[in-house]
Amino acid sequence: QTEKPLYQRILLKLSGEALMGREPYGIDSHVLGEVAEQVGEIHELGVEVAVVIGGGNIFRGVSGASRGMDRSTADYMGMLATVMNGLALQQALEKVGIATRVQSAIDMKEVAEPYIRRRAIRHLEKGRVVIFAAGTGLPFFTTDTTAALRAIEIGASVLMKATRVDGVYPTDPEKDPSAVKFDRISFSEVLQKNLGVMDATAISLARDQNMRIIVFNLLKKGNIKRVILGDPIGTVVEG
Ligand code: UDP
Repeated sequence: QTEKPLYQRILLKLSGEALMGREPYGIDSHVLGEVAEQVGEIHELGVEVAVVIGGGNIFRGVSGASRGMDRSTADYMGMLATVMNGLALQQALEKVGIATRVQSAIDMKEVAEPYIRRRAIRHLEKGRVVIFAAGTGLPFFTTDTTAALRAIEIGASVLMKATRVDGVYPTDPEKDPSAVKFDRISFSEVLQKNLGVMDATAISLARDQNMRIIVFNLLKKGNIKRVILGDPIGTVVEG
């Protein structure tokens, strides 16, 4: 085998918006299929893949709260949205022949397993993709923080944060085309410069536990595999 993965077990963070594609909200089945294909490429290399899925394409707590709902209720709705995305992703992965399990941080035994860390690890060892849904199960957190937490819990060697841009920039590259991407940046710098990579809770948790994060563009075909093979794309956040 000439293609040797750099990482044996990874945590992939997919935002809800990543699944939206060109749709105004909800899920773009075409994008979902492409994500499944990319995951299939690294699964074939024997990489153990866990996924944390967001829900922003369906519902975000802050948006409900801004319309007068209390924040906790709105956040629980947001968490339920991630379960829908999780089920959609599970279908897409199984369509390309990958066995998956969805584990939910909020009990929903008719549609998903409960989150049980040791069980999740066992699934990974058996080659199943594990999708973590319902975030942390707690309001006032994000799925980015969930991604950092689960990555640490399962002993992933890297947290791969999928985005729509090529990596971390000093200013928003979608608004400022002259911005130059960082190839590498430290956790503290991300926090000091208030860069919108992930929220501060997620970044500080990753920093405390030395969980390397790679921010990369999901929309370019084959990018997940390129990161796994060690191609220097995206931005590495560490140290
Ligand atoms: N959420 C939460 N606790 C968590 C994870 C998520 O309350 O541990 C809620 C929160 O309201 C958030 C929504 O679920 O807005 C969807 O998650 P997120 O915004 O992180 O999704 P993404 O931006 O990745 O699509």
